[in-house]
Amino acid sequence: MATTLFKDFHFEAAHHLPHVPEGHKCGRLHGHSFMVRIEITGEVDAHTGWVMDFADLKAAFKPIYDRLDHYYLNDIAGLENPTSEVLAQWIWQNLKPDLPELSAVMIKETCTAGCIYRGE
Ligand SMILES: [Zn+2]
Repeated sequence: MATTLFKDFHFEAAHHLPHVPEGHKCGRLHGHSFMVRIEITGEVDAHTGWVMDFADLKAAFKPIYDRLDHYYLNDIAGLENPTSEVLAQWIWQNLKPDLPELSAVMIKETCTAGCIYRGE
Protein backbone atom coordinates (compact mmCIF):
# COMPACT_ATOMS: atom_id res chain seq x y z
CA MET A 1 0.00 0.00 0.00
CA ALA A 2 1.38 3.39 -0.98
CA THR A 3 2.29 5.62 1.92
CA THR A 4 3.36 9.25 1.97
CA LEU A 5 6.24 10.53 4.08
CA PHE A 6 7.14 14.15 4.61
CA LYS A 7 9.97 16.15 6.07
CA ASP A 8 9.90 19.84 6.91
CA PHE A 9 12.76 22.25 6.33
CA HIS A 10 13.11 25.89 7.31
CA PHE A 11 15.19 28.52 5.59
CA GLU A 12 15.55 32.29 5.64
CA ALA A 13 15.60 34.27 2.43
CA ALA A 14 14.90 37.70 0.99
CA HIS A 15 12.84 38.50 -2.07
CA HIS A 16 10.58 40.99 -3.71
CA LEU A 17 7.80 40.36 -6.23
CA PRO A 18 8.40 42.39 -9.39
CA HIS A 19 4.95 41.94 -10.98
CA VAL A 20 2.65 43.13 -8.17
CA PRO A 21 0.77 46.43 -8.58
CA GLU A 22 2.65 49.59 -7.73
CA GLY A 23 2.60 50.24 -3.99
CA HIS A 24 1.88 46.58 -3.06
CA LYS A 25 3.88 45.63 0.03
CA CYS A 26 5.29 42.53 -1.67
CA GLY A 27 7.01 44.73 -4.23
CA ARG A 28 9.37 45.98 -1.53
CA LEU A 29 12.49 44.03 -0.54
CA HIS A 30 11.64 41.87 2.47
CA GLY A 31 12.36 38.46 3.96
CA HIS A 32 10.57 35.35 5.14
CA SER A 33 11.26 32.38 7.33
CA PHE A 34 10.13 29.90 4.69
CA MET A 35 8.98 26.40 5.52
CA VAL A 36 9.28 23.72 2.85
CA ARG A 37 7.58 20.35 3.23
CA ILE A 38 8.90 17.65 0.91
CA GLU A 39 6.52 14.73 0.44
CA ILE A 40 7.40 11.40 -1.12
CA THR A 41 5.04 8.54 -1.84
CA GLY A 42 5.96 4.90 -2.28
CA GLU A 43 5.46 1.36 -1.12
CA VAL A 44 6.43 0.35 2.41
CA ASP A 45 9.30 -2.12 2.17
CA ALA A 46 8.26 -5.43 3.75
CA HIS A 47 11.60 -5.89 5.51
CA THR A 48 12.59 -2.38 6.62
CA GLY A 49 9.05 -1.18 7.24
CA TRP A 50 10.07 2.09 5.57
CA VAL A 51 9.20 3.86 2.37
CA MET A 52 12.53 5.69 2.62
CA ASP A 53 15.09 6.61 5.25
CA PHE A 54 14.40 10.22 6.28
CA ALA A 55 18.16 10.77 6.11
CA ASP A 56 18.06 9.98 2.37
CA LEU A 57 15.22 12.47 1.86
CA LYS A 58 17.22 15.12 3.73
CA ALA A 59 20.34 14.37 1.69
CA ALA A 60 18.44 14.66 -1.60
CA PHE A 61 17.08 18.08 -0.65
CA LYS A 62 20.33 19.47 0.79
CA PRO A 63 21.87 20.80 -2.47
CA ILE A 64 18.67 22.75 -3.15
CA TYR A 65 18.38 23.94 0.43
CA ASP A 66 21.95 25.24 0.23
CA ARG A 67 21.03 27.33 -2.82
CA LEU A 68 18.12 29.00 -0.97
CA ASP A 69 19.09 29.55 2.66
CA HIS A 70 20.14 33.16 3.34
CA TYR A 71 20.04 34.11 -0.34
CA TYR A 72 18.19 36.78 -2.30
CA LEU A 73 15.80 34.58 -4.24
CA ASN A 74 15.37 36.97 -7.18
CA ASP A 75 19.05 36.41 -8.07
CA ILE A 76 18.56 32.65 -8.63
CA ALA A 77 17.95 31.52 -12.22
CA GLY A 78 14.29 30.58 -12.53
CA LEU A 79 13.26 32.56 -9.44
CA GLU A 80 13.17 36.04 -10.94
CA ASN A 81 9.54 36.26 -9.76
CA PRO A 82 9.84 34.24 -6.53
CA THR A 83 6.25 33.76 -5.42
CA SER A 84 5.55 30.69 -3.30
CA GLU A 85 3.91 29.10 -6.34
CA VAL A 86 6.99 29.62 -8.51
CA LEU A 87 9.31 28.51 -5.71
CA ALA A 88 7.36 25.27 -5.18
CA GLN A 89 7.60 24.45 -8.92
CA TRP A 90 11.29 25.35 -9.01
CA ILE A 91 12.03 23.02 -6.08
CA TRP A 92 10.01 20.27 -7.76
CA GLN A 93 11.90 20.62 -11.05
CA ASN A 94 15.29 20.60 -9.33
CA LEU A 95 14.51 17.78 -6.90
CA LYS A 96 12.44 15.33 -8.96
CA PRO A 97 15.41 13.98 -11.00
CA ASP A 98 17.18 12.95 -7.77
CA LEU A 99 14.04 11.96 -5.88
CA PRO A 100 11.63 10.17 -8.25
CA GLU A 101 9.30 9.35 -5.34
CA LEU A 102 8.59 13.07 -4.88
CA SER A 103 4.81 13.60 -4.70
CA ALA A 104 4.39 17.15 -3.37
CA VAL A 105 6.25 20.32 -2.43
CA MET A 106 4.60 22.60 0.10
CA ILE A 107 5.80 26.13 0.77
CA LYS A 108 4.75 28.33 3.66
CA GLU A 109 6.00 31.89 3.70
CA THR A 110 4.05 32.84 6.81
CA CYS A 111 2.42 30.78 9.55
CA THR A 112 -0.95 30.95 7.80
CA ALA A 113 -0.22 31.22 4.05
CA GLY A 114 1.29 28.77 1.64
CA CYS A 115 0.85 26.58 -1.40
CA ILE A 116 1.19 22.97 -2.47
CA TYR A 117 2.51 21.82 -5.85
CA ARG A 118 2.01 18.22 -6.98
CA GLY A 119 3.77 18.34 -10.30
CA GLU A 120 0.86 18.77 -12.69
ZN1 LIG B 1 7.26 37.87 0.44
